[in-house]
Amino acid sequence: MKITFLGTGAGESYPGLWCCCPHCAYARKEGGKNIRANSCAVVDDRLMLDMGPMCFHNAARFGVDLTQVTTLLVTHPHPDHLYPRHLHWRETDEASLHLAYEEQITFGGPRFTPLPELQIYGNTYTEQILHPMLAEAEKLRIRFHLIRENESFSAGEYQVTPIRNQHHEAGFAHSYILQHGGKTMLYGLDTGGFDTDMMETLLAHRYDLIIMEGTMGIRTTEGGHMSLKKNALFRHTLMESGCLKEGSRFLLTHMSPHWCPPHDLYTVMAGNCGMEVAYDGMVVEI
Ligand SMILES: [Zn+2]
Ligand SMILES: [Zn+2]
Repeated sequence: MKITFLGTGAGESYPGLWCCCPHCAYARKEGGKNIRANSCAVVDDRLMLDMGPMCFHNAARFGVDLTQVTTLLVTHPHPDHLYPRHLHWRETDEASLHLAYEEQITFGGPRFTPLPELQIYGNTYTEQILHPMLAEAEKLRIRFHLIRENESFSAGEYQVTPIRNQHHEAGFAHSYILQHGGKTMLYGLDTGGFDTDMMETLLAHRYDLIIMEGTMGIRTTEGGHMSLKKNALFRHTLMESGCLKEGSRFLLTHMSPHWCPPHDLYTVMAGNCGMEVAYDGMVVEI
């Protein structure tokens, strides 16, 4: 699997919108990997993990074409993870697609390209938010599938297992275990950890890659999110249980500017705990 990060920031992105704290000021001054859009990743350019407001812009910056994506796994409907309006731009008059572009544009678009149907997977909270879009599912070439925690399903060539998160109320957010071609990865966000029943499922796998939210960084009170300390503890539990394969990587994403130091500095801190800090545009192959 090839994983491309199209965003590694939390809800506010990085730097903070209205903040000039040392972290935000550093990010503005130094730019580069210190700038983060809302968290999003795409696997093999075909399977998207969340679709927040900034992902298409970043995809264009990093040379990723999202038009042929066939699967969208939604963790939860917080607006930094799901921006339903993006689906609106899939609309077109299908009959016009066989015409030359010069003729098509008289029909108005906004799409002039044939698209595969997009299979969207999410929980009941996600379904509610997508409701207006699902009423036009055929026109937008989308289809929704309700996930159930701990019940694996096939999405194209990928085997997917949803894990209930500790984020907002129970059932509001889910992480995903993704398996393909003998490789296994976890995309874990947004969550403050996992209940015992979900830990059982998590510990029943051996991972080539862990991608985990690290929203709260060096802060000691975390709520429904992870801190560096909790990230390190979770990694330790996985190691103790023999769940990390030789050479497997542990990457942090979904970072808040106020509690996660800028990339240049946080990379060193996380590195001391055996973890890596992801950045927008980073590509990882497993
Ligand atoms: Zn979030
Ligand atoms: Zn959230």
